[in-house]
Amino acid sequence: MISRETIDKIFEAVRIEEVIADFVNLKKAGSNYKGLSPFVNEKTPSFMVSPAKQIFKDFSSGKGGNAVSFLMEHEHYSYPEALRYLAKRYNIEVEETGQSEEEKQIRSEKESLYLVNEFAVKYFEQQLWESEKGKLIGLSYFKERGFKEDTIRTFKLGYSQEAYEAFTEAALGEAYQLSYLEKTGLTKVENGRRTDRFRGRVMFPILSHTGRVLGFGGRTLKKDAKIAKYLNSPESEIYHKSRTLYGLYQAKAELSRQDECLLVEGYTDVISLHQAGVKNVVASSGTSLTVEQISLVKRYTQHITFLFDGDAAGIKASLRGIDMVLQEGMNVRVVLFPDGEDPDSYAKKHSAIELKEYLNDSRQDFLGFKAKLLLADAADSALERSRAAREMVESIALIPDALERDAYVRECARIMRLEERVLFSELAQLRKKRLQEEERKAKREQNRPAMQVVEEQESPAPEEPLDHTALSANYTQERDLCWLMLNFPQLPMQAPDDEIPEEERITETVGEYVLLELLEDQLVFKQPVFHSFFKEYETYYNQHQSIPDGAYFMRHTDQALVALAVDLSAEKYELHNWQSKKIFVSEREAFVPRYAKEAVLRFKEISVRGMIRDIQNKISKTPGHELNTQLETLGTLNQLRVEINKALNRIV
Ligand code: ATP
Ligand code: MN
Repeated sequence: MISRETIDKIFEAVRIEEVIADFVNLKKAGSNYKGLSPFVNEKTPSFMVSPAKQIFKDFSSGKGGNAVSFLMEHEHYSYPEALRYLAKRYNIEVEETGQSEEEKQIRSEKESLYLVNEFAVKYFEQQLWESEKGKLIGLSYFKERGFKEDTIRTFKLGYSQEAYEAFTEAALGEAYQLSYLEKTGLTKVENGRRTDRFRGRVMFPILSHTGRVLGFGGRTLKKDAKIAKYLNSPESEIYHKSRTLYGLYQAKAELSRQDECLLVEGYTDVISLHQAGVKNVVASSGTSLTVEQISLVKRYTQHITFLFDGDAAGIKASLRGIDMVLQEGMNVRVVLFPDGEDPDSYAKKHSAIELKEYLNDSRQDFLGFKAKLLLADAADSALERSRAAREMVESIALIPDALERDAYVRECARIMRLEERVLFSELAQLRKKRLQEEERKAKREQNRPAMQVVEEQESPAPEEPLDHTALSANYTQERDLCWLMLNFPQLPMQAPDDEIPEEERITETVGEYVLLELLEDQLVFKQPVFHSFFKEYETYYNQHQSIPDGAYFMRHTDQALVALAVDLSAEKYELHNWQSKKIFVSEREAFVPRYAKEAVLRFKEISVRGMIRDIQNKISKTPGHELNTQLETLGTLNQLRVEINKALNRIV
């Protein structure tokens, strides 16, 4: 966990307009900044950044929040990733809390491995661009491949020279420890002898989605068939092949924008397509596709398109990958390249326009692709067709959405010229089998020992469903109260010189008044987000004997509270509210306390009404001898309601 002090330091240093300007073109508009929404395609700017409040609001997508929320939305960072990014940008040292010694050590070891890798990237780049051999051998190789200079820089490509330990010596000379060089796999130590793993290779750094260097791929420049063409970093504390996608860092913005992810085989395919302007492309280099890699993509888009080489050898093996993507509920399409071509070679032989046309024209959905593949070398007999159809239905059965499954089965019947009925019963059987397997698996998990339970408690609770009856009745009242608590925590309810008798004078601020009034009557908000706002307010008050201000919520760790705070402080809501009350902005300070009293009474009224409804429901089911107490309560509540309404009439 990042310490509270560090988080505060970060928020004090951060200027949201600077952070966002790294990603969005912002123009000054009055005291705010305006720009085109980075979340949707639009022609007129609806994206606002407020330096005064340190928030952004995107009126097209409805998204809003602080600098951290922006990075989480736009860059798909986790909360700590976003904080670390900001700490780095503003040169703030990150202090961790609540870590055991062991955890601290792992963390600092990981950090050391990253530093070694970062040094290595710079070193290999320098070799490529500045050393004689690097330019002569490495750079000219890349250029022969058709890579342009800015492409080479974008992917941070480099060169590792032919010497035994040139890199290792340079790193040790900069005081990097040998043990870290070994753990990243950059240096091999055998019988006390140190050698560079990647000597005589051009280097492809593998980056995380946040741009940190996880490992390397290196391609030999020798024609020697005995040497492996590509060599990769070994798995380490920071590099897990199954959780990494090559090119994700350079592709991620485009994945959301195009709402599609192209999946290719390796480094050169990614780079060549990127250079041709097709930037939504990643590779699962070196491994067959994993579930972890699929969920990485899922953060950006629901559509995956597999790009396959012309040679059919690998294609049957990749059907498994397609099934995995289907099972994740994502959409799968396929592009098959002409015989003997891979995306890299195709991109080199054709213009960017031709490439894009080819991708668009030959993109097919997985079902048609599988059908052709399965029927390619089969006779066109009913037997062969139903055999192929069965395999297709096996894939279809993996799709979580029932409507989609239906549509695909119909399509399958059409392509295969078979009866839908037969395929549907096939599907039903497969689904039944799957459900049974899942039930068995769930049972096994239930019977696991207590350890598991502890872990589960730590995972976030499932989202509470919205209560629609409460939504219509209580929503406005609850929202108004939260609005008052957030925006006027310190405004006095009454000016001290009011000529009001001592005992009737309210000495509290608006924030305190609302909080204490509700606590006194034990009233709670029904909307989950308002409820957690209130709870947070209460906890803060109990701990500090004072009221939290808007800024406290704007920098909260709970992003739902940040979003609420942004919403409630947004000018739009405020103006609407004042206008509907025919109150001028200059009069608001006088208006607010009266409005607070009114809002509290209204909420009490609606709560009492709710209680009355509950009691009436109970009465209809209560046995005779208990009826009296219920009726008595009902009487009290009705009396209360009358009084509240009288009080309301005095104010309004
Ligand atoms: P050539 O110039 O002979 O075509 P290449 O560098 O293009 O060589 P290919 O053999 O065509 O490499 O490989 C196709 C793709 O697979 C390339 O993008 C390459 O980066 C990738 N690739 C090949 N082997 C590996 C490997 N061991 N690990 C990761 N990626 C690999
Ligand atoms: Mn190739």
